[in-house]
Amino acid sequence: MNKLAILLSATITLCSSALAVAANQSEPLNLDELTTAFGWDMDATAITTEKVTDNLYVLFGVGGNIGVSIGSDGVLIVDNQFPNMMSKIDAAVKKLGGDNIDLAVNTHWHFDHAEGNLVLGPRGTILIAHSNARANMAKGGIINLVQSKYRQQPYPDKALPVLTYDSGMQLYYNNEIIDIRHFSPAHTTGDSAVIFRKQNAAHLGDVFNNSGYPFIDADSGGDIDGMITFCAQTLAQMKQGATVIPGHGPITDLKALEDYIRMLEAIRGRVSNMMDEGMTNGGSRLC
Ligand SMILES: [Zn+2]
Repeated sequence: MNKLAILLSATITLCSSALAVAANQSEPLNLDELTTAFGWDMDATAITTEKVTDNLYVLFGVGGNIGVSIGSDGVLIVDNQFPNMMSKIDAAVKKLGGDNIDLAVNTHWHFDHAEGNLVLGPRGTILIAHSNARANMAKGGIINLVQSKYRQQPYPDKALPVLTYDSGMQLYYNNEIIDIRHFSPAHTTGDSAVIFRKQNAAHLGDVFNNSGYPFIDADSGGDIDGMITFCAQTLAQMKQGATVIPGHGPITDLKALEDYIRMLEAIRGRVSNMMDEGMTNGGSRLC
């Protein structure tokens, strides 16, 4: 296990007020407990929509940002939040001119990006993810948020991706070339960047968090060096003027991704120096 990643996760999480709500939890939380701790209200939260290009949109609600491609072939989404949000997601897609969700890519296995699989899979949506993400969804596991833990239940077969890949796959859909790429273990071991070539946009899942401190799921093999590599490799794929869709937070641009990489490198260097000095993650001294 990568000690630097663990210490880095501990450091940035100790600095996060959102996660501090659930401080001192030794037993893993279930979804109800976690949504309460995080103040998520799925009944009250509406889905809002932002247009990226003529047939690419982002939906915001509870959980990870959802990319939506709508065109002559149908509807493809990237990440899918929660079953309790699905009727609102369906309504938002229909409002944009789409119909059923035909294809759904999971950027990784975490519940706030993939739990919608529990609805989409059984109703026939083709689910796509990195092979490691599928393996994690199948076996479930405890996600260590450092100051709290979440127990993600194993997904039933019907909610598991039916198409997987290891390093990359390409879809020709809605008059678009959609590259799904995995560059390295980063936020988890099964992260995907979903690149819309013609529209010059990329969804990076939680490898790029634009709403707060980055989080590395070190217990699932996440890795700080991989985070930097993954972001830099995605950046290298994009043309000038690209739209960058983070896992959380507002849509942004290449400059923000460059700044994020620099921030990751700076944190890595500082934490590495602290480790060299013999510091540990046993207290809030690193914040
Ligand atoms: Zn995540």
